[in-house]
Amino acid sequence: MAKNFSEMTWKEFDLAFMVTNPGCSAEYRTGDWRSQRPVADKSKCIKCGVCYLSCPDDAIRLAADGTYDFDYEHCKGCGICATECWTGCISMVEEEK
Ligand code: SF4
Ligand code: SF4
Repeated sequence: MAKNFSEMTWKEFDLAFMVTNPGCSAEYRTGDWRSQRPVADKSKCIKCGVCYLSCPDDAIRLAADGTYDFDYEHCKGCGICATECWTGCISMVEEEK
């Protein structure tokens, strides 16, 4: 009889439970998961880079003017950048269909 999922150890999980190729999420359009998107008021941005350092999905890019742009192909809309931006220039807005 198969073991109950909650009784299994990590050694018993199927391969699908493991990340065998770190960073592979860049190959997928994870932005499709998003229900809200970050939008920045760049007039308030002091180019500190905190948003860039805080994004768990590496979905923020340095722009030519020293501010930062969002990579909406990969941003999942978690809102961490908006929480961590200490000048308050990032807002989360409802995703448009
Ligand atoms: S955290 Fe805010 S102020 Fe700092 S670079 Fe990002 S958007 Fe600009
Ligand atoms: S909402 Fe989350 S995933 Fe999107 S740019 Fe901000 S920190 Fe990154």
